[in-house]
Amino acid sequence: MPREAAVVHSPDYFCDIGAHVFPTAKFGLLRERLVADGEVAEGAVLEPRPASREDLLRVHSHEYIEDLEQLRWTRRTRFSELPLTEEIVRAYVLAAGGTLLAARESLTRGFGVNLGGGFHHAGPDRGEGFCYINDLAVAIRALQHEGLVRRAAVVDCDVHQGNGTAAIFHDDATVFTLSLHQERNYPVPKVPGDLDVGLEDGITDEAYLARLAAALERAWAHAPDLVLYQAGADPYREDQLGGLGLSLEGLAARDRLVLEGCARRGIPAAVTLGGGYARRLEDTLEAHLATCRIALRLARAGAAPAGAGA
Ligand SMILES: [Zn+2]
Repeated sequence: MPREAAVVHSPDYFCDIGAHVFPTAKFGLLRERLVADGEVAEGAVLEPRPASREDLLRVHSHEYIEDLEQLRWTRRTRFSELPLTEEIVRAYVLAAGGTLLAARESLTRGFGVNLGGGFHHAGPDRGEGFCYINDLAVAIRALQHEGLVRRAAVVDCDVHQGNGTAAIFHDDATVFTLSLHQERNYPVPKVPGDLDVGLEDGITDEAYLARLAAALERAWAHAPDLVLYQAGADPYREDQLGGLGLSLEGLAARDRLVLEGCARRGIPAAVTLGGGYARRLEDTLEAHLATCRIALRLARAGAAPAGAGA
C-alpha cells in the first residue's frame, strides 16, 4: 500500500527579519515548487498548530520562554542574530509545531517533511544563530511524553554544529545526537554531542559521504524509534556561511544515505530544512527540493515503519 509522506507548512513560517542572510522566503517558495511539480497536492499540505507552552517548556527554561513572550532583550535572547518581534516569535513556535506534526505523522507514514525548522542552535536557556526555538527537541520530547517514542536520534548534517541540540540532550541517554559539520566554523566553542564529526575545510562529496556512512552506523546502533533529520543545505560549496565543498549531487547522495538508511531499518524519519545560504537562492531551493523528493519517493515505495498499522 503506497503511502504519502506528510508535508507540513504554514504561510506564517515567513516572517520579516529585515535585510538578512537567512532567506525566510524559502519556506513558501518550496511549497509552491513542490505543488507545481506535482510532488504534493496543494490540499494535502498539512498546516501545523503552534507548539504549546507545555511543549516548549519540556525543552526551554521558563525564564527564556518568558523573555520570548514579552519580547525582552536579555542575555538569553540577545545572541539570536535576529530581531525580536511578536511575528518572529510566533513563526518559530509555529515551526516547532510543524516539526512535531511531521514527526508524529512519520510514525504511521514512514516520513514527514517540515518545510521549515531545523533550528539546532537554540539551547535550553537561550537562542542563538538565527534560532529561537529548538523544534527538533520539542518534537522528540513531546512524542516521548505521549509515550509514542522511547528512543530517538538526531542526524544533523548542517554545516554548523548542532550545539543547542547537543546541550538539550546532553544528559539524556534516550536521544542520540549526531552532528556532521565543518570544524572550523560557527559555533565556537562547540557543545559536545554523542557523536561529533568535525570535517576539514573544503571536503568534497566522496570523502564526506564516507564519513557520514561511518557515523550513521553509530546512530543505527542506538536503535532509535524515530530519526529527526536536520538536512541543512549549507554544506554546499557555494554557500556563503559554509566552507565545505559538496556539490548539489553530493547533497542529494547525503540525503539518500540518511533517509534510505531509515527506510531500510523501518525507522520513521522527520525531515527539517535547517540552514542554506547559497549565493543563488535557486541553489538552496534545489538542494531542499531534492531532499523533499527523496523522502516523498521513499514513502511511496512503501517503506512502512516497523510496527506501524497497515
Ligand atoms: Zn547552518
